[in-house]
Formats: sequence, C-alpha cells, structure tokens
Amino acid sequence: MPPPPGSPPIDPTHLPEPLRKEIEAPDPVAIDTSAPELADGVNRCPKCGATDIVQKPGTDQLMCRYCRNQWTAARVEDEFGLGENIDQLQGTVIASGASDIKADVATMMSFKCSGCGAEVTVNTENAMTARCHWCRHVLGVNEQVPNGAVPDAVLPFHIKKDDAIARIRQFVGKRHFFALSAFKEQFSPENVLGVYLPYMIVDANASADVAGHGEIKTREYSEGSGDNKKTLYDADVYALVRHVDFTVDDLPLESSGARGNLDTRTNTNNIINTILPFDTKNAVKWNASYLSGFSSEKRDRNVEQLRPHLEDELLSIARSRVVDSVARFDRGVRWEQEGLEVHGSRWVAMYLPVWLYSYHQPGPNGGMLHYIAVNGRTGETMGSVPVEMWKLLLAAFTIGTFLEFIAFGILGHTS
Ligand SMILES: [Zn+2]
Ligand SMILES: [Zn+2]
Repeated sequence: MPPPPGSPPIDPTHLPEPLRKEIEAPDPVAIDTSAPELADGVNRCPKCGATDIVQKPGTDQLMCRYCRNQWTAARVEDEFGLGENIDQLQGTVIASGASDIKADVATMMSFKCSGCGAEVTVNTENAMTARCHWCRHVLGVNEQVPNGAVPDAVLPFHIKKDDAIARIRQFVGKRHFFALSAFKEQFSPENVLGVYLPYMIVDANASADVAGHGEIKTREYSEGSGDNKKTLYDADVYALVRHVDFTVDDLPLESSGARGNLDTRTNTNNIINTILPFDTKNAVKWNASYLSGFSSEKRDRNVEQLRPHLEDELLSIARSRVVDSVARFDRGVRWEQEGLEVHGSRWVAMYLPVWLYSYHQPGPNGGMLHYIAVNGRTGETMGSVPVEMWKLLLAAFTIGTFLEFIAFGILGHTS
C-alpha cells in the first residue's frame, strides 16, 4: 500500500526487526477464492448427496454419476470481478490460490473418508482426487493448502480423449514422409494423457517509456560508374521518445519451473506455448471434481519468481504498441533505452487442460524426448515428430539444389 500523501517515504532498512519484516513482507492476499464448504475433501451432489461427481465431458458442467444431476460451476471472472478495473490496478493483488508455496507443506495429503472413516491419501504431485477403496467415496483436494497444488481456478477439458487421439494421428500423418517409422508403429493411444498444467494468469496496468533514433530517407542517388557505381542515401535522423500507458488482460505465465526451463539438448522446445491461446475467461472456480480422471502438475513458482518474466512480456507488448506511431521512419528505428513501470498487477493461479503424448527417441546422451500436445479447449495441435536423419538430409539436398537453381536463373537475368 502506498504511504498517505504528504508523509515522507519510509526506508525499511532503518526499522527494527519485527516492523521491518512486516513492511517488507509481500502484500496480503486480496482475493479469497477458497471454498470452505468443500474443505473436508468431499464434494457432494446438491441433489442427492452422493460424492461420485465428474465433469460432464465436453462441457464446463459437473455431473453426479449416481443421480445424473448436472450443475454449472461459477466462473471465477464473474465471482471475483477479475476482468474489471484493470486500468486502476495498484500494487500486487494476489488471489489465495496464487499465494507463496510453503516448503514445509506436504505434497501427500490425507483425508478421513466421511463414508467409512478410512484414511485416503492423494499425491498432489500428479493427482487431486482419489477414491476410497473401501466404500468408493470420492475425495478431492479442495482446501487451499499452500503447497502449490491447489489453484484458484480450472479451465475444464472440452476436447475429449478420442478427439485428441484423432488429432495426434492426423498431425503425425500429415508429416508422414519425415516421421520415424518406429514412432508410427509404436503409437499407443492409451498413452495420450490428459494433464492439467499450472499457469499464473496475470492482469497488469503499466506504462513504458522508450527512447532512440529514427531515420527518414530524403534522397537516393548514384555516384561513379561501371564497377564503381554506388547507391547513396540521405536521411534525416530524429531523436524519438514514446510513452505508452497500457493494460493487459489474462496474460498466461507458466508456473512450473520444469516446464519453463526445458533442456533443448534432450528435449524439444516448449511446445505448450505453440498451442496457446486458452479461453481463460471461461475458467471456473476451483473444484477438484474437474480433475477426476486427469493428472496434474503442481505449481513450483511464486509471484516474485515470475515477476521478471512478466516484465519481459510487458516490455515486448509496449514495443509492439509503439510500432504504429513510428511507421513514417522508413529507414528504421533503433531503440536505445527502455523503461517499464508496473503500476499494478493481479495474479490468479489456474490449471489449463492439455492432452499430451510423449515419445522417447533413442540416441546419444539419453536420446530425445518428443511431445505432441493438444489444446484441451480448442484442439490446436502441435508437436515435434522425430524424423529419420537421412530423410531430412535428402529433402534438404533436393530443396537446396532447387533453390540454387532458381537463384542462378534470377542472377542470369539481371546481369
Ligand atoms: Zn446426485
Ligand atoms: Zn470410505
């Protein structure tokens, strides 16, 4: 919170220990998305009270498998006013599911089954629901324990598994000339897995200042003759400064370190970014029942660790906003200084739905791991299909020769 007007700014380094800690501590949680009514791990059908609740495939609705009752979960955006007043955001507003991960909070969570009293354990590294093996009650992690596993919101899968499999087959089929035959032979649809991946969805209110030089061509002429003929340009050089105030709504930032930091030597590039965007506006309030039958990946990055990444994204947005205003500098613009001020940001933790198929290609240094990913909302499919080197080389040789041929043709024409 900013100090009241008129009072001098406080330098926390001169304050005694307890006060300093309080001032330097991150802003308190501003949006509480927890659902205390679900905290005992049992999500009951509002009509019959059964606990066997799943997402109705292809929709955002929940369905009771016992009495077939269906109901719609609340959209987080509506419930917590997340789309509003972005231009007035000040400071850092963090939803409860996006708060800092506490190192001492266990990933294995135990629940006492309210059906039979048995102890049921959920490993939140990769699952958020479990069925009691004694009485078949379904328990889910709905309590917002600060271990990174429970976000504020979830964007449910709309693309069904058989649809995802068809899209993956089509993706590989289209590239069949290059695809490794072993990949095609060993393709096993049962290994296509639905995974919820952790993202921070950020709104921000920011300003940027950029300064540099732009050139406008005033004259073009030739000097000399024959081999010494040169084309010369005259240009006016202008010092440029631009200021831009802007907001961003629902910027997705990956919040799993393992995924944000893929080793490209043993792993192909991060393909998840290639299947964006997701319609995050339609995300619903967290309810573990949406994760029944899917696996999930825990968030391991906090707001402060992601802030530099946010600033990079905001600066590139600012640069693109400025482009139109410098169109008349036809000889180009060189930006020499950039400054960004983030007036306010709002952070919500969300699970996004992705169908994943992975394939290990044997080779030196442990080989390569390839992925094909399908956006669980739009069906957008992207991936890296392993190729046989000789096929690629042959293709490159053929195309290369062909291009050279064209290039010679053009040169022959002009000289
Ligand atoms: Zn029911
Ligand atoms: Zn039980």
